[in-house]
Amino acid sequence: LFTRPVTFMLGVAKLEQLPAEEKVEICFAGRSNVGKSSLINALCSRKDMARTSNTPGRTQQLNFFDLDGAFNLVDLPGYGFAQAPKDVVRSWQGLIRHYLRGRVKLRRVFVLIDSRHGFKGADLEMMKMLDETAVSYQVVLTKADKLKKGQMEKRIAEVVTALKKHPAALNQIFATSSEKNTGISELRAEIASLL
Ligand code: GDP
Repeated sequence: LFTRPVTFMLGVAKLEQLPAEEKVEICFAGRSNVGKSSLINALCSRKDMARTSNTPGRTQQLNFFDLDGAFNLVDLPGYGFAQAPKDVVRSWQGLIRHYLRGRVKLRRVFVLIDSRHGFKGADLEMMKMLDETAVSYQVVLTKADKLKKGQMEKRIAEVVTALKKHPAALNQIFATSSEKNTGISELRAEIASLL
């Protein structure tokens, strides 16, 4: 599945640009710099597929990729820019909320969290939106290679405890490293199980 061709479909910056729902959608969200592009590239065995989402003009839109007709991968814009103007944040939230609320074929949102930092305010806001829109989501820890085993166990325990307060979150989480290819096949298996 993940070795098949991937094509960039479109970037959505406004509500009315959202494509018709044809395929199952799997979505990736996370703070800027969490390692989202790296993880998507590792999952899809690509070097620069999701970098397209980080190019100027594409950072504030939902980027849709077609995984060879099997499903659509939706890369949400990176959030948590402390310096972003309020109206930019508001319009971003409006677009995301609208997308999450109305998407019948959206099977799962993977919320990426940097292993070193755990949940930040912007992550909790994102999760609140997911709880409110009742979209099934799952936490994926990134950059697992940056922590020692004991630190990682502590981080996982802390995240699992925090997730108990979030009704739409799944209990199971993934620890991944795009650099070391850790947890990638597990995440692929999870996605495959949703199709
Ligand atoms: P994005 O902004 O969320 O798309 O993040 P990127 O994928 O561009 O990654 C941000 C930074 O984190 C880059 O410098 C990456 O090289 C680094 N990075 C991403 N994934 C990993 C990882 O698994 N391990 C380590 N050590 N660094 C990573």
